[in-house]
Amino acid sequence: MPDSSAEHKQNSRVFVADIGGSYIRLGVSERPGSVRLLDSMPTPVDSWEAFGAALQSLAERHIGESRSPLAISMAGAIDPASGVICSSNVPCVSGRVLGAELTSRLQRRVRIANDADCLALAEAVEGAGAGHDVVFCVVLGSGVGGALVVGGRVAGGASGISGEWGHGLPVSTHVDFNGTGHAEPVSALRCGCGRMGCVDTIGGARGLERLNALLNGEQQDSHALLDDWQQGSARAQRTVCAWLALVSEPLAAVINITGASVVPACGGLSNVSPLIEALDAAVRKRTLREFRERVVVPGRFRHDGGLIGAAILARQDEFCEP
Ligand SMILES: [Zn+2]
Repeated sequence: MPDSSAEHKQNSRVFVADIGGSYIRLGVSERPGSVRLLDSMPTPVDSWEAFGAALQSLAERHIGESRSPLAISMAGAIDPASGVICSSNVPCVSGRVLGAELTSRLQRRVRIANDADCLALAEAVEGAGAGHDVVFCVVLGSGVGGALVVGGRVAGGASGISGEWGHGLPVSTHVDFNGTGHAEPVSALRCGCGRMGCVDTIGGARGLERLNALLNGEQQDSHALLDDWQQGSARAQRTVCAWLALVSEPLAAVINITGASVVPACGGLSNVSPLIEALDAAVRKRTLREFRERVVVPGRFRHDGGLIGAAILARQDEFCEP
């Protein structure tokens, strides 16, 4: 029996790129579930001309004469109506209709997707969330991000920023450090978005460091702090106890609202397994639904999630070789 068109698209070759604040990585997916890295180079973040030239040289070197489209995972919010991107990591692209401008420059179709969306799709379809219908992926990097996947599709929404639990959901201003029912006040911090007390102010690695400075009056790198926590340091214990309480509450609310049955955690902090295990325990104490098994789990894709997610998205949108 000949391949159906859908099967043909699934097995088409797909070119993908992951563009972060440090590197542009180009890859190719020959079949679902696999991406091979072809090349990488530093991201020109301040010059639009240098940024376009970098992508053009990568495409010419590895995609060549073929007019194969390119699916890109990129940090930044993309307005679904206008296609205009706002990226704090790569300022030179902000305000541009990036997909259309790169389509013209590279002489091939270029599709841009948010990196958290790509990561969530990778985890939901081929990673730690596979088999679950509703997957909320959290990114605990230097800041906090997230994305929602329902039925194997990113729930992008009208704003294109659905899943951004890092902003607009204020964390508590009190923490019960000893579990005695006596909560101590913890000051809300001003967020980069202009509001007070967003999850992003305390949730990622920089947030953990801010929280530590607030509670212990000391500047300490998140890696050293989490090492100290695992060694049983009382000061680090105090900070991580507050972090777990403040982050688990809004995350439990997100799970209640979305109906997610699994939350793959990605980003730098997710590499500290005991922290993710403790976060899972704290979240499950607070969700309305009683989960018998772990909900917050380490993501499967530590390095290639953006590329893998972009390839899945490209196949879903039939954005592959003709
Ligand atoms: Zn904010």
